[in-house]
Amino acid sequence: MPDTASRPNDAARFDVAAVRDQFPILKEPSHGKPLAFLDSAASAQKPQAVIDAVNETYAHRYANVHRGVYELSERTSAAYEAVRGKTKSLINAADDDEIVFTSGTTDGINLVAQSWGRANLGPGDEVLITEMEHHSNIVPWQMLRDEKGIVLKVAPFDEDGVLIMEEFERLLSERTRLVAVAQVSNALGTILPLDKIIPMAHAAGALVLVDGAQGIPHLPTDVRAMGADFYAFSGHKLYGPTGTGALYGRGELLAELPPWKGGGDMILSVTFEKTEYAAPPHKFEAGTPNIAGTIGLGAAIDWFAALDHEGLAAHEADLLAYGTERLLEVPGVRLIGTAPDKAAVISFVLDYAHPHDVGTILDQQGVAVRTGHHCAQPVMDHFDVAATVRASFGAYSSRDDIDALIAALDEVRELFG
Ligand code: PLP
Repeated sequence: MPDTASRPNDAARFDVAAVRDQFPILKEPSHGKPLAFLDSAASAQKPQAVIDAVNETYAHRYANVHRGVYELSERTSAAYEAVRGKTKSLINAADDDEIVFTSGTTDGINLVAQSWGRANLGPGDEVLITEMEHHSNIVPWQMLRDEKGIVLKVAPFDEDGVLIMEEFERLLSERTRLVAVAQVSNALGTILPLDKIIPMAHAAGALVLVDGAQGIPHLPTDVRAMGADFYAFSGHKLYGPTGTGALYGRGELLAELPPWKGGGDMILSVTFEKTEYAAPPHKFEAGTPNIAGTIGLGAAIDWFAALDHEGLAAHEADLLAYGTERLLEVPGVRLIGTAPDKAAVISFVLDYAHPHDVGTILDQQGVAVRTGHHCAQPVMDHFDVAATVRASFGAYSSRDDIDALIAALDEVRELFG
């Protein structure tokens, strides 16, 4: 089926072919077949602009940052620091200094747990998460529970993968100090109702940390409008390099937090008796950072910001609707995650083949999907499955990719069905 056939007008307006053309890897065959890359939720592919920014940094503008007095270091430092402003604009933070560079979402959440959490939480204090969190928004709180005696509460979701708001509200109490919640579930695709969650959490006196790993590539993200106190995301899911990302923290909060990693670049002065720390965000950025990667993240932000976002949203909504419709025609399929508000992820199982076997057969047809528990084992437990097959989309994904998936599932049925 041609990609443009019967796409709604606003989706058809989005020029997928022009976007795809900017991603060299999408021209690489896989097992001799055209690559249908359906694993953007794990990590997005990189446009040429990002690849060039990283290459050019190493080829022409590379030196350590914040340290050298020579021109090259000053230029690299300026290019690196400029990414703070780009990140601020991307998420509409109030100030560049509210942007802490991290190695990704995991690093950002651990920063909040180890810095804010260790300094502010004690026995009996509660952290409320949801049942659909990624392990990176579960394990740091369990570590704090073991160390500080905090209580970890979990708000459940229903059979569609929708957070049960009555339960969420019931679990909020005056002991709740933090609500840590995903913007979008990576295993189910559910978009969390942050417009309800955040005001409710604040009314209970809790702070809110939003895990934006799966949200930022698909949803307009304005940390001030949403009211997040902390917001973490990964560069590699936003078409940027691996090992990059940022944690947003409200200025007043960051100012009060102790550092959690010690080392170079986060201090004002050091003697053996005493260290004076630098102001945020540098206080939280010990050691030589991912310089070229972060500059690449800046290129990814520029690239992403220049997309037609209304067109992109319509295009991704079309892929979700088309993919769901086509998958439901496949005999023996069960969708895992059927929330009315979803973003760019379709998880499913087949009643005649294990997800890992499905993934292997699809791979032989050039179709790259993720199979496994998606670092969300409690979600698998909820649906009583060990794993799912997950197809996820990015700006470059097309209906042709979905058609390739459906055709490859025929092969699975022939072998296992
Ligand atoms: N949170 C969610 C919802 C995710 O999907 C992921 C990665 O898949 C993470 C957190 C962790 O991101 P990273 O591995 O980039 O730190």
